[in-house]
Amino acid sequence: MGAHLGDDGRYYGELRCRWCETHIKQGGRHKPRLYCRGTHRWKTYGMRVVGVFAAILG
Ligand SMILES: [Zn+2]
Repeated sequence: MGAHLGDDGRYYGELRCRWCETHIKQGGRHKPRLYCRGTHRWKTYGMRVVGVFAAILG
């Protein structure tokens, strides 16, 4: 499990979406793909923002 960086500077293998854990084939990308779709990136980002406000407000 997990992607690895090839000798050519591209990522191979699979990573899991940080939101829903769907397997994402990297397929030789220059940057690892962390989310299966854009909305999951925003959901994860939104949760982080909510966490920051929760920490501030106690
Ligand atoms: Zn996802």
